[in-house]
Amino acid sequence: MWVSFFIVSLIWIWPQCGFSEWYKRDEPIMGTRVFVELWHDDPAKAALLMQGVMDEMERINQLMSPYKTSSELARVNRDAATAPVQVSQELFDLVQKANHYSDLSGGAFDITFASVGHQFDYRNRRRPGQQEQATAAALIGYRSLKLDPVTRTLEFGKPGMRIDLGGIAKGYAVDQAVSGLLAAGVEHAIVTAGGDSRLIGDHRGRPWMLGIKHPRGEEHVITLPLSDSAISTSGDYERFFEEGGVRFHHIIDPAKGDSARELLSVTVLAEHSVDADALSTTLFVLGPQKGLKLVNSLAGVSAILIDRTGKVRYSTDLVDPTMH
Ligand code: AMP
Ligand code: MG
Repeated sequence: MWVSFFIVSLIWIWPQCGFSEWYKRDEPIMGTRVFVELWHDDPAKAALLMQGVMDEMERINQLMSPYKTSSELARVNRDAATAPVQVSQELFDLVQKANHYSDLSGGAFDITFASVGHQFDYRNRRRPGQQEQATAAALIGYRSLKLDPVTRTLEFGKPGMRIDLGGIAKGYAVDQAVSGLLAAGVEHAIVTAGGDSRLIGDHRGRPWMLGIKHPRGEEHVITLPLSDSAISTSGDYERFFEEGGVRFHHIIDPAKGDSARELLSVTVLAEHSVDADALSTTLFVLGPQKGLKLVNSLAGVSAILIDRTGKVRYSTDLVDPTMH
């Protein structure tokens, strides 16, 4: 009698509670850690959705990695100085988006930074000689990158030029992965690729809590309560080496052809990851004054900057929420 009561109760309760749970997975992709966590009532579907996130990240990596000789981007770098190279609509659109941020920032964001960037090897502490660096720096300039939307081709105006989407591709990939989860009806999730994260919904009744790392330590300096938002951090501690007290790191000021050194970290909040990603790199190059001026002129975008003295600076909307 009690057994049948138990079974009947179980049959009644099972569909009511649906056994929803948090599911998570992480993988090393795009030279970084890709992480997904989502709330779902079906373990098999959750596993498929998480696999979909990883597959999408890997697909974009195969298309846009400068290190994979078979990628479209590598083909552009190989051939676009000789003749226009036709690319996929997807790559073309992202290059166009990158150029939008170049226009917006007076060239602080510039994917042709790679003309000099590729000469640095941070892991092996290698950098170009002075002459080599100056010659390569003269090749930077997004205006010499010709885009033809009709033929969907890219062409380099100067031999020796290179492009790299490292400042925007991870954000783009996060947005793509999030679109897949949204289309599948997921209501609570986080997708992260390195310093770029996007949140779907909240953490079930509470906001997601995301920390901004101390640029010279492991602890968090600030923790932000967020939901339905994208957040990206660019820092000079991600890939670097030091020589004679000077830090050579992966964010290049196109005007100097050398690492940007006015800030230690920049965090940008926006609706989409592609914008947060591009803007965090952009503001890092622009420095505190010009960076804050730019972010304050953009609707729906906030920023937290840590300058070289360790001082934290905020965009106006975070200081005075009535501004937006
Ligand atoms: P993030 O961590 O998003 O700031 O991206 C840093 C990456 O952006 C670097 O590893 C480079 O691949 C790329 N990058 C560096 N400097 C620039 C620049 N001035 N404009 C565009 N992309 C850049
Ligand atoms: Mg970025």
